[in-house]
Amino acid sequence: MTKIRGILLLTVLCAGILACARDLPADWRSLQRLLQAETLSQPASPPLTVQFLGAGGIYLHYREQSLLGDPFFSNPPISQWIMLRDLKSRPDVIDAHLPPLDQVQAILVGHGHFDHAMDVPYIAQKLPASVKVFGSDSTRNLLAPEVPLERLVGLDGKMAQQQAGGEWVYLTPTLRILPIYSEHAPHFGDTVLVSGNIPHPLHERAGDALDWKAGVNLNYVIDFLQPGTDSAVTTVAYRLFYQSSSSNAPIGYPPRWLLEDGVPFDLALVCAANYNHVRDYPQGLLAYIKPREVLLIHWEQFWDDYSTETATPMPGMDFADLEQRIRSVLGNEVPVRVPNRGSSFELGGRS
Ligand SMILES: [Zn+2]
Repeated sequence: MTKIRGILLLTVLCAGILACARDLPADWRSLQRLLQAETLSQPASPPLTVQFLGAGGIYLHYREQSLLGDPFFSNPPISQWIMLRDLKSRPDVIDAHLPPLDQVQAILVGHGHFDHAMDVPYIAQKLPASVKVFGSDSTRNLLAPEVPLERLVGLDGKMAQQQAGGEWVYLTPTLRILPIYSEHAPHFGDTVLVSGNIPHPLHERAGDALDWKAGVNLNYVIDFLQPGTDSAVTTVAYRLFYQSSSSNAPIGYPPRWLLEDGVPFDLALVCAANYNHVRDYPQGLLAYIKPREVLLIHWEQFWDDYSTETATPMPGMDFADLEQRIRSVLGNEVPVRVPNRGSSFELGGRS
């Protein structure tokens, strides 16, 4: 994509965003009731803590292990995208809101757009050198100027697709991820902005919004494992599905062989942004994996200043429609949460 074409596309997108923003339903504030953090009643077994960080960002903690996905706090304003300013991380904002890092085992990245990847280098340098960053090969190349290559793991060779393939990647003996090939929802029409791949490691930090190329999109299955008394026997304490960009069904689904192991999905972390720009989403996915609970992420305007107090739903976000889609396949009993930025809840073990 040439820069001029990119500027035009960004301008069209931003004009659309601003036009839609004026059309926000007057009663959207009533949704704030939905957006408050919730804590479940006392779980029967050790809980898994789930924190929503904003945009596609999540923090997971179980026992002595934590995981970050797509951590993003800097929220550059739209004017910086259009003017093709270099997008800079904001250490003051990140440091104020970053969850505890002392037990973080890895950072997962879904794709290379700035709202998923631009804060990763700053956060990675706060972590021990043994903590690696996982993403597509393109994302590895994108982050190479600021994160040592030995800490960047490209997963293109280990991706699963629904029909076959894929390989577990063990982050520790009791924490593993399965990367799944997925795609990025179009921003408008059938156009995905800044969708290119980065085939070789960059030498300078990506600058403006057009430099933060998406590359291949990944979803992840995340298993927190529980060693048995016999060290040879390990069970899955929690299985999560993590999707930080919407995709057309059935792209991005876990492989069939995984579903045959009989381990249920405890939680689906599902991207809400552009949910209605793709086919059969998220109901097709949820009918397939049948999670116990659903957490909607990437629902809020990530170009507003980061705040844990207020957040505005993205233009076109229709929570009632989205909930109806989910309930049409999961029924009324499955908890569906829309957390505010920074809020967390405890997911109880299976009874
Ligand atoms: Zn994106």
